[in-house]
Amino acid sequence: MKQRIFLKTFLLIFLVAGISAVTFYFIARRYTVNSALLAACGISLLLASLAALISAAGIAKRLAKIDGFADELAAANLTVRLPEMGGGELAALAATLDGAARRLESDFRSLGSSRTQLETLLNSMDDAVVAVSAKREVSWFNGAMKRLAAAPLTVGMPLIRAVRDPELLRAVADVLDHRNVQIATLYSVSPGRTFGMTSTPLPDGGAVCVLRDNTEIARVERTRRDFIANVSHELRTPLTSLLGYTETLMDEPMDSKAREFLEIIRRNAQRMSRLTEDLLTLARVESGEDRLQQAAVSAHELLRDAQTSFSEVAKARGLAIEIVQSPDTQVFADKDAIHQVFANLIDNALKYAASSKKIEIGATTRMGNVEFFVHDFGPGISSEHLPRLFERFYRVDKARSREAGGTGLGLAIVKHIVLNHGGQVGVTSDLGHGAMFWFRLPLAQVQHGNTAVTGAKSH
Ligand code: ADP
Repeated sequence: MKQRIFLKTFLLIFLVAGISAVTFYFIARRYTVNSALLAACGISLLLASLAALISAAGIAKRLAKIDGFADELAAANLTVRLPEMGGGELAALAATLDGAARRLESDFRSLGSSRTQLETLLNSMDDAVVAVSAKREVSWFNGAMKRLAAAPLTVGMPLIRAVRDPELLRAVADVLDHRNVQIATLYSVSPGRTFGMTSTPLPDGGAVCVLRDNTEIARVERTRRDFIANVSHELRTPLTSLLGYTETLMDEPMDSKAREFLEIIRRNAQRMSRLTEDLLTLARVESGEDRLQQAAVSAHELLRDAQTSFSEVAKARGLAIEIVQSPDTQVFADKDAIHQVFANLIDNALKYAASSKKIEIGATTRMGNVEFFVHDFGPGISSEHLPRLFERFYRVDKARSREAGGTGLGLAIVKHIVLNHGGQVGVTSDLGHGAMFWFRLPLAQVQHGNTAVTGAKSH
């Protein structure tokens, strides 16, 4: 290499000198030139050739060093360095290249250490992590995932061979196709264990899944629900009997004090009875044990049912229930369960918005869902309460709720029924001007003349 560069540089300089000599010879022949001057020119030419030879050797040596340096860089040896090359353009170029190599080496080293840190962190996690490429192949996994997988994990293997849980595969397919975050509960990754999974899209078109073992939490939650359901169930019979005997006694003649006491007993027994019923309903809808009888049902039919069922009660309180918007579309829902949702929302509107002259109900289609609403024009709810309103036993005004016969569970029941449908609930309120409770249900899609299932749960 060095020789080639030297030869080329030398030939170039020699060519220039040769052309100058020949030109000079022809000029000398055309015009009579003094022979001493000719000899002087010959000597100058000889000296110039010598100087060209030395300079070409120097340039060739330096270029060869730069060339060797570039070869090392290309072979990923970032520790290679270029020595100082004195002055001139070549030296400046060498210094720039050397600086670039130093920066590259330091960047690569910090990248490598961040990668090691990340890998150590992910491997020390209890959560299992697996990254999937757009081709649905495993592209990365941590230690916890390796222990959990159905088959020995390797990079590049199809995800379907690594994990056999249908819910996980469905969620990943959804993330890859629609680029949205998916949350799912997995029951068949490992026998007898429950995992919560979040699957998120990656910028390269793939997805990453994080699986958390929720078996213990699910067990505690089930025990809590069972306990509440059992207690409520046990209280049901004595409460019914207490209420029955109290009402029978009240039919008998008695003095006003005794009647007053019996009335207090009856009111409280009724309250307890409502509470146990609501607790039982909540335990049922929370556990998801109540299989929903979902089918395609017209949004208008749901609204009309709600209006018909509550218009008499509303009228008795001086209110009218109006359907203000009703799209010609079908939702995939359990009719009875949605009736219960409307019952709780309208009951609240009647209890807390008695000052309102009317209650508006309706629905609109919105991005693959139908959004139903119950709008009252009562006192509304101040904004700090809105985020917690759907929690069990959360009440804005405890005394008011109790006085109105509330249990604090109505909205929690609403939330769980809607979530079981794969929908969402919410509320907006303009303090002093009313409240609007809404819930979204998935649209029923019509395929080949049959009505088909839509939407997965997205809590
Ligand atoms: P409750 O049995 O107390 O009615 P809910 O869960 O149904 O329990 O409602 C929770 C609280 O939300 C109520 O106590 C009440 O303070 C508030 N709330 C619900 N609906 C309305 C409404 N339409 N207007 C004003 N406040 C409401």
